[in-house]
This record gives sequence, structure tokens and C-alpha cells, in this order.
Amino acid sequence: MGIFSKKNKTNKRGGKQLSESLRDEKLKSSLIINNIDDAVVLVDSSNIVQTFNPAAGALTGWSQEEAIGIDYRSVIKLADDKGKPYPDSNHPFYKVFIGKKTIRDSQATIITRDNRLLAVDISVSPLIDSGNLVSGAIGVLRDVDEQRKEEKQRADFISTASHEMRTPVAAIEGYLALAMNDKVSQIDTKARSFLEKAHASTEHLGKLFQDLLTSAKAEDGRLTSHPEIIELVSYTEKLVEDLKFSAEKKELSLNLIKGSKDATITPLLYTKIDPDRLREVITNLFDNAVKYTDSGGIKIGITGDLNVVQFSIADTGPGIPREDIPHLFQKFYRVDNSATRTVGGTGLGLFISRKIIEMYGGKIWVESELNKGSTFYINIPRINSQQASAELKAKTEETPKLSQTKTV
Ligand code: ADP
Repeated sequence: MGIFSKKNKTNKRGGKQLSESLRDEKLKSSLIINNIDDAVVLVDSSNIVQTFNPAAGALTGWSQEEAIGIDYRSVIKLADDKGKPYPDSNHPFYKVFIGKKTIRDSQATIITRDNRLLAVDISVSPLIDSGNLVSGAIGVLRDVDEQRKEEKQRADFISTASHEMRTPVAAIEGYLALAMNDKVSQIDTKARSFLEKAHASTEHLGKLFQDLLTSAKAEDGRLTSHPEIIELVSYTEKLVEDLKFSAEKKELSLNLIKGSKDATITPLLYTKIDPDRLREVITNLFDNAVKYTDSGGIKIGITGDLNVVQFSIADTGPGIPREDIPHLFQKFYRVDNSATRTVGGTGLGLFISRKIIEMYGGKIWVESELNKGSTFYINIPRINSQQASAELKAKTEETPKLSQTKTV
């Protein structure tokens, strides 16, 4: 219950109670602000710091007296993880004043007064006045330096370990394949069945190491990317040709649907993306569709509007329970039902797919109905044909020059 909801018996007494409670509330607020571990910074609409708690002082190296009354950009200097200062337009306070919405940046680094870099998690919220204008912004910064260092160490360990383990696993897989090859070795049926099981497990282990390595790289932004302009309709036609074989093996139909239902001609859909990374994502969604679908078929769709190209991969499989959908794109998440218990997997494919699609400013999601099937969607930014041809032309003009310099 708020302080104003208390019933006051007399005006005089009521007035006294009110001011006491107000004083109490003010005292409580300042007690909290001055004693919490997180840095709290209040900035007014002229970009001037109005409140700067002791934790903000400890984090930034600026004292309260110095910070209050000056421009926030002088005391809350942010940079990316490589220490490159944010341009003003990327500063969460600036974004809040422009966009009137809370901004959270969990990957920021603060440059302290003595030029040290500290990893911080920053969240800035607007203070909206009765005229719907932003009268100020309140930022809360948390020092996550230790935490981020530990995360990095963990990711480095996973990268190195999975990289080192992949090599012997590949060798085991190769030798097992040789042992099962009639042309090079003779084994009886019993031995063959054991080796087949060993081979399947080794394959799974190899995939797990590969996925671990890719997801560790995706997490700390080390995934390689060579984006180029590609026309996605012809790209998808070729890709679907390559995928046909694994659908046929399971007696599932595979159809490509181009453009919207009522369109007679499919427009050219250009984007700028690394074709190998996009193939990785679509193949992963397609492999899942095949893996989890026992009968029926898979439809791969490609369509778009002025700004977006949309892929869809629809199956007639078991569907995904509603409560699992929000977690599906998290690391190691697997739906716990009979379908996934019997079908092998790492729970990393969708996590990696999301990271890749987000790397290109896109979005990935799923819609699903139990016992009917699932459709995974990918939206990626589209670029118009003129822009695409201009970039392609610039590239072809550049290539001969480059090869000339090489031969000189
Ligand atoms: P996994 O290696 O387990 O397939 P993914 O990250 O690719 O890992 O998928 C996560 C989980 O999402 C799967 O374990 C499965 O439960 C569910 N899933 C993904 N695709 C489908 C699909 N097409 N139909 C039903 N369930 C799916």
C-alpha cells in the first residue's frame, strides 16, 4: 500500500503524517541508492548528471562532487569489448532520450577515469513526464568484469578442448569405416553390428565436438563470416536439390515453394550474407525436420517483401509442446519426449542457428502444433536489386585490379 492511501483523521495530523512519511520515503530512497552495489546515475534532459551514487563513483573513478552537474558523456564513457569507444549515437542514454524505451546493453565496457576497461552490464530507463516527453533517464550499471573474464576462460577452454578432441575422434571414425569396408577388411556379421554401433556413436561425438566449437565461437563473436551478395531464390533451388537425397532416404517428400501463394512470378530476392553460414542454418533446420518426422513431408518456402526475405521449413512431424517453444533456441535445450529421447542430438543446432541469423540482423522463430508439425521461419534483411547490382558491379571491377596487383 502506498503512503498516500493511508486515511488521515484530521487535516493537521494528516499533514504531519504525510510529511513525515515523505521524509521517511526520501530517507529510505537515498539510503538504498547510497548503499546498493550497483552504480545509479540520473541524467536530466540536458544530458547533465543529477544523481551519482557512491557505487557509480567506485566504478568510474569520478567522485560524486565531480560528476554531478556535468555531461554524462564525460563520466560514463562506454566502449565495445575491444576498447573502441562507442559513438555518441550508440550510447544507451542517447538511445533512451531518442527512443523513449528502456535500453539494456550486456556487452558494454566502461572506460574509467584512469583509463582502465571494465566490463559492465548497463540498463537505462526513461523518465517520462505528463506531456509524454523524456524528462530524464536513469541508468543502472553493474560491474561484471570478473564474470565476463570467467565466461571467456570457459569458452576458451571449450574451444580448445573440442578442437583437440575432434582430431582423434575423426581418426577413430575413419578406421571404423575402413574396418566395415568389404574391400579392405573381412569381418563377420556380429563384429560388423558392433562396429556399426561404435561408428554411429563416434559420429555423434564428432558432431558434438564440432557443435561445441561452433557455439563457443558464436558466443564470443569469433565465428568467421565472408558475406557476399547472393540471389536467394536460385541459391535455395540449388540447396534443395542437394537436400533431396536425405528426405528420399526416409521416404519423405520435399517441395520448394517460391514466392507467396498468389504470386505468378517470383521476384529476385537479394541479401548480403555468408552463403556457407546460411547453408549451415537451413541445412540444420532441414535435418531436424527429417530427423523428427516419420511420415509425410517437408516444405521449404522462400518469399519476401520490400525489406525482408523469409525462409520457412515446415514438416509434418510430432510438433513441439507450447511450453518448450520459448527455450528452444537456448544452448543444450532438447524437448524431453519420446521423439527426442530416441533420436540423437546435441541441443546446440538451434542455438547456433539463432546466433548466425542474428549476426546478419535477422530473426528466427518457430510455430508449431502438436501432432501436426512445426514450421521454422527465418527473416533476413533484403537489399533491393539496384543496390545488389551496384555492389556486384563494384566487386567485379575490383577483382581484375586485385589479380593484376597480385601478378605484378
Ligand atoms: P538437437 O541436436 O537436439 O536436434 P537442436 O538445437 O537442433 O538440437 O533442437 C533442439 C530441440 O528442438 C530438439 O531436441 C527437439 O526437441 C526440438 N526440435 C527441433 N526441430 C524440431 C522439429 N522439426 N520437430 C520437432 N521438434 C524439433
